[in-house]
Amino acid sequence: MPVTTVPVTTVPVTPVPVTIAPRGSSRPALAGPVRAARPPRHLADLDPADRRAAAEQLGQPGFRADQLARHYFGRLTDDPAQMTDLPASVREELAATLLPRLLTAERELTCDRGMTRKTLWRALDGSYLESVLMRYPDRVTMCVSSQAGCGMGCPFCATGQAGLTRNLSAAEIVTQVICGARSLAQGDVPGGPGRVSNIVFMGMGEPLANYGSVLSAIRRLTDPVPAGLGISQRSVTVSTVGLVPAIRRLTQEQLSVRLAVSLHAPDDGLRDELVPVNRRWKVAEVLDAAWGYAAATGRRVSIEYAMIREVNDQAWRADALAGLLAGHLAHVNLIPLNPTPGSRWTASDPGVAREFQARLAARGIAVTVRDTRGTEIDGACGQLAAASRPGAATG
Ligand code: SAH
Ligand code: SF4
Repeated sequence: MPVTTVPVTTVPVTPVPVTIAPRGSSRPALAGPVRAARPPRHLADLDPADRRAAAEQLGQPGFRADQLARHYFGRLTDDPAQMTDLPASVREELAATLLPRLLTAERELTCDRGMTRKTLWRALDGSYLESVLMRYPDRVTMCVSSQAGCGMGCPFCATGQAGLTRNLSAAEIVTQVICGARSLAQGDVPGGPGRVSNIVFMGMGEPLANYGSVLSAIRRLTDPVPAGLGISQRSVTVSTVGLVPAIRRLTQEQLSVRLAVSLHAPDDGLRDELVPVNRRWKVAEVLDAAWGYAAATGRRVSIEYAMIREVNDQAWRADALAGLLAGHLAHVNLIPLNPTPGSRWTASDPGVAREFQARLAARGIAVTVRDTRGTEIDGACGQLAAASRPGAATG
């Protein structure tokens, strides 16, 4: 789908200076970013039982944690002044202890007449991450990051070029969605007040390499209020580069989230280059794990395929891909490559992409071309954060 070219608006967001000492460290607080071992604990890291225990540790009855969660997940507020059902004397302490501000919006870029909004977040330790909110007529999708950076090294991906900074905590993942949900509820996104209906783990990072936090974030996002935000599991997509043991583990979780597998090539020779983790888990193993997931959940697996000119877009590769997928619960998502700065690769010629699509369709494979919304504010996955790293030429 072509991207609507509209002027890009940069909304300056006042950065909040952060001074923080690593938890458990005896070092004094230093000015400027300091690598924290872990972000502070937050309500959204905890299940309801652990929240109650945390409230009790503060000398409060356990139900105070449910009240706090109702504000956070139900009313989308972390402002103690608005929590009038909590005694004034305990609001501040509960909020300070269980609702620390984990992320600061450093930049917000909008396009598509405000319907696409990308936020560059700075975490307490100075790490950068991104989320994108996309409003469509029938839904609002949030694309979230699961890691600051990524260690998988796919050469066409801006996040991959930058390497892994660290895993995000569950609450840092959830916060990206809560902030988007709050903007929508307040009517800050054109189209009137709305709700987040879909979540895709397609921002920075490899979600299955941060398994524990991602699973816990999925539960917080999909459990009903006040345990979580109450988004349907079926509306959540976890995209993976193909970490086979983690796909098998996810298969056991009894979730109904959608799995997307970033395949990008049907043959190991090319996939070894485009997706270096393929040297560990080959195409056949990845797809075997994907079919196991489809069988357990009854859900079609989405096969992601970035169309790279004269690299993976040949007709014979379309036929090879069709051969791998025929008869399986799969859907192919063709993504026009979004070239990263300095990359030798570019997007497939549209005619070639159409031919690739047609060859899959002719073999009965469900196939769509990914909406590339926000390309002009994105560059590509991870580019905004990459440009914001200290020492980068742009920011
Ligand atoms: N790490 C996970 C999820 C984040 S990347 C994964 O790789 O699946 C989300 C999707 O964006 C993946 O399908 C990835 O291959 C794709 N992607 C990354 N860089 C891209 C680029 N420059 N152009 C098009 N798609 C890209
Ligand atoms: Fe990581 Fe996904 Fe980018 Fe590969 S495509 S480097 S797995 S974020």
